[in-house]
Amino acid sequence: MEEKGQKQVKGIRISTVNIIMIFISCVLYILLITATIRVSGKYNDVHNSMDEYIAFEENEAFLTEGSTYLTEQVRLYTVTLEPEYMEHYFTEVHETRRRETALEQLESSYGGDKAYEYLVEALQHSNDLMQDEIYAMKLISESQGYTKEQIPEEVQAAVLSDEDQKLDSEEMIQRAREIVFGTDYQEARTRILDNVENSMKSIHEKTHEKMLGDADSLESTMIIQRRLVSILFVENIATFLLIILLIIKPLRIYVNCIKEEKMMEITGSYEFKYLALTYNDIFEIKNANEAMLRYRAEHDPLTGIVNRGGFEQLKNMFRVKGGALGLLIIDVDKFKLINDGYGHEVGDQVLKKVAGFLKDEFRATDYPARIGGDEFAVILTGMTEEMGAVVMRKIGKINESLLHPDDGLPQVSLSVGGAFSEQGFTDDLYKMADAALYVVKENGRCGCRFYEEGMEL
Ligand code: GH3
Ligand code: MG
Repeated sequence: MEEKGQKQVKGIRISTVNIIMIFISCVLYILLITATIRVSGKYNDVHNSMDEYIAFEENEAFLTEGSTYLTEQVRLYTVTLEPEYMEHYFTEVHETRRRETALEQLESSYGGDKAYEYLVEALQHSNDLMQDEIYAMKLISESQGYTKEQIPEEVQAAVLSDEDQKLDSEEMIQRAREIVFGTDYQEARTRILDNVENSMKSIHEKTHEKMLGDADSLESTMIIQRRLVSILFVENIATFLLIILLIIKPLRIYVNCIKEEKMMEITGSYEFKYLALTYNDIFEIKNANEAMLRYRAEHDPLTGIVNRGGFEQLKNMFRVKGGALGLLIIDVDKFKLINDGYGHEVGDQVLKKVAGFLKDEFRATDYPARIGGDEFAVILTGMTEEMGAVVMRKIGKINESLLHPDDGLPQVSLSVGGAFSEQGFTDDLYKMADAALYVVKENGRCGCRFYEEGMEL
């Protein structure tokens, strides 16, 4: 059977489809995971660019604030003449150091960068401006007559021009104010702010360019990701359809075939087709066995006609079916004597012969049966009382043959009782035929009578 299956079955193997689908899924998932990792990497790049831009902007603001703070303090000193502003100024220069700190913060990431160079330049300008600021503070300090100890080193170190040394204290204050509020000073400050602005522009352009690149790359990776998800979706649907086509549909068909006790349709995958072929082979064998068993259960092994069990089933069937029918009950006359005189085997031959005559003489629509040892019955379908004469003739013919055997078997005869019914098989029908048989037996045997009113039931 296995060889038969292997030779005849053609179809897609579920195992092969499964391996292919697993392989495709694995490849798609690996690509999707890679794309997802790339997307998150690109997202981080964009994020980092933003963070760096913000950090740059903060440090730039720091530098500007430091520079502006120095200007404010020196101006306040020249205006208020309060030495605390000079102290603030040098605290910024030596301790707070906002300008230098800002550049130090940026150096590692932006050293050599154009934007950074602009800031370095801004710091240089700011430092250059400090010379003027210190000079101005020197003038104020001189005008106020501060001792060396009261003023910082840088201010001490500043040397006034000969011309300025000759000025009186009011003129010195005036001169100092001219320096820190003058056009030159203002222009120098503008240069510092220009540098800061240029730096800002440069970093903005650079960040913008980088972010555009990152965003493009992010978008193209996301497009790949979307396509992969679509392909995965299609692959999933294809897998479900294949499961329906190769497994669920054939399973449904097979379950129905089993429920309806039918041969299976050869459909679905290779495995199901193989299963169906095997099932059909077993189904055929089972049916043949069942038919054989049924035949054996319903037929008499000696005569080959329906036995008592089969006769009971026929009775039930005609009970339900109804309609006109006749029943004959037949008994072999003095059969015991045959057995006793010729032996059991000859008796068997006689029984077979009787069954053969019944089969030959009656129609294919009639049912001869052996219902006891030497007792037979015939159900005559569609038979009415008017057809009794035909039956009588048939029995007469059989008896004639049995009484003049040409086969070496002993002479025998049949006693037959018959009855008719318009409502199918009934208990009375049997009783009536039996009563008629009794009458035949009582009246010398070898003959056929039909039930008549008055016969003892
Ligand atoms: P009657 O005319 O009154 O019917 O007399 P009879 O001798 O036929 O009496 P009965 O019907 O009672 O006898 C039937 C005999 O049939 C008894 C039994 O030994 C015999 N018999 C039953 N079954 C078989 C069988 O399968 N083969 C053979 N050879 N004889 C059987
Ligand atoms: Mg008998």
